[in-house]
Amino acid sequence: MRVLVVIGTRPEAIKMAPVIRELLRREDSIEVRVCLTAQHRELLDQVIRLFTLPVDHDLDVMAPDQSITQVTTSVLTGLGRVLAAARPEIVLVHGDTTTSFAAALAAFYQKIPVGHVEAGLRTYTRYSPFPEEMNRRLCDALCTYHYAPTAGARENLLREHLLPEHIVVTGNTVIDALLHTAAQPCTFTDPVLEGLGRERRLLLVTAHRRESFGAPFRAICTAIRDLVARHEDLEVVYPVHPNPQVQRTVYEMLAGIERVHLVEPLEYLPFVHLMKKSHLILTDSGGIQEEAPSLRKPVLVMREVTERPEAVAAGVVQLVGVAYDAIVKGVERLLGDEGAYRRMASGANPYGDGHASARIAEHLAGLQ
Ligand code: UDP
Repeated sequence: MRVLVVIGTRPEAIKMAPVIRELLRREDSIEVRVCLTAQHRELLDQVIRLFTLPVDHDLDVMAPDQSITQVTTSVLTGLGRVLAAARPEIVLVHGDTTTSFAAALAAFYQKIPVGHVEAGLRTYTRYSPFPEEMNRRLCDALCTYHYAPTAGARENLLREHLLPEHIVVTGNTVIDALLHTAAQPCTFTDPVLEGLGRERRLLLVTAHRRESFGAPFRAICTAIRDLVARHEDLEVVYPVHPNPQVQRTVYEMLAGIERVHLVEPLEYLPFVHLMKKSHLILTDSGGIQEEAPSLRKPVLVMREVTERPEAVAAGVVQLVGVAYDAIVKGVERLLGDEGAYRRMASGANPYGDGHASARIAEHLAGLQ
């Protein structure tokens, strides 16, 4: 069976790498090909190198200041050509990116069935996250097979009348990638990163969501600045996302502040090891809120709604939103209340056991 895996961004590459590895292990029955759209170039390439993923096609669509429309149309056109030439029997896409949606649409037009990895997550809030909520819904509607990470995601798909026999609950493949990577040795070449978390409590921050641009981002930065000023034993490391809007606000507001380390986005291996060094994590990332519970790190999520309610229900992730007061209060509670901290660092992780990719590969192998 010929399977074409389509990947556009860093999180897709991290979460698809273990799936590709499992498919490659079944080479006698499955022929796997990988197509990059490179919706994001640099961050994606780092992951491709780390996991030594084979690349067969590269659409290289990224353009300066690209709009969502441009990405959608370039992927749709480019992938249409790749599909017509490669004629895969099944296409695999991941998650909620514009790449996943446009690739699923391109395959649908050529009547090629698509499997959706990380299917069924919903906020049911149209513009949050934007455009990811709608990308994921459209993708699920276009796909034939749905690999749902949790029972809750499966319920969402059933409510939308997708066929139960085509939904497989697998766990999230990010846990497969995380456990593999956390077990690899890592030396930090940057002495600043190497020293972090030794003498002070380390707060790891990441934020890049489009819906937080503007005032919410400024509130996040002010909260970080004030938290560091109020807590002598706290230091912050913030790998700043390359999006120019994010870079501008963060460097303007936080550069030069003592005990705030602004760094380039990190490759996945050092990033995982930085999570391990951290005391707690403040983020708006989907992947990080899935990963951190496995490393026993409490996560405060700077979003108003989440399509990942399971970790919140399990008490290992807390939604704090993007208001200044709520962020400061959320962090200070965990700094001051040891019991609350310990409960959030329990190690329970509803997103997987590290074998999600094998379940997906087995399902695909069973289709022939
Ligand atoms: N990550 C990374 N380096 C960084 C920040 C994040 O490798 O500097 C990883 C992180 O561990 C997670 C993924 O990138 O697996 C999350 O990506 P992002 O936050 O861009 O996207 P989202 O998860 O929100 O879709």
